[in-house]
Amino acid sequence: MIGSAHLTKIARLHKKHADKRTAYQWIVANKIVRKADAISVEDLNIKGMKARCKPKPDDVKQGRFFKNGQSAKRGLNRSISDASWGALIEKIEYAAAKSGKSFFKVDPKNTSRTCSKCGVIDALSRFGEKFVCTSCGYEAHADKQAALNIKTRAVKTTS
Ligand SMILES: [Zn+2]
Repeated sequence: MIGSAHLTKIARLHKKHADKRTAYQWIVANKIVRKADAISVEDLNIKGMKARCKPKPDDVKQGRFFKNGQSAKRGLNRSISDASWGALIEKIEYAAAKSGKSFFKVDPKNTSRTCSKCGVIDALSRFGEKFVCTSCGYEAHADKQAALNIKTRAVKTTS
């Protein structure tokens, strides 16, 4: 049996950890807003966190999902990191509004598969961290490339 004093201690540690994360997120949010003239992010609500946590039909059919629970665990980890990401985004949005800077949420569809130079969408252009366009040969870090697409989408909404 775990004593209530022990449980209180655990609860306190959880709170301490959450407080630290919140404080850190405010530091990051303020830093981002200070450095930028405008901020654009992928709108996670468009995809929906629920859909991501669902196991793929193939996983269920082949028993992979039920056998080792890997897919379920991945979904859970993903939703936890999404929640944390969402909390950071909220702080950035707040900090941007406070300092009068523009904040955009854009459709995240294909941001990592679209070439920011020629606009061709191809999953084969992406190799992990590297992006090499199968159409025009443009090379970039995959995250930077996706960020450029997010920026372009934000700019489009203003014109
Ligand atoms: Zn291209």
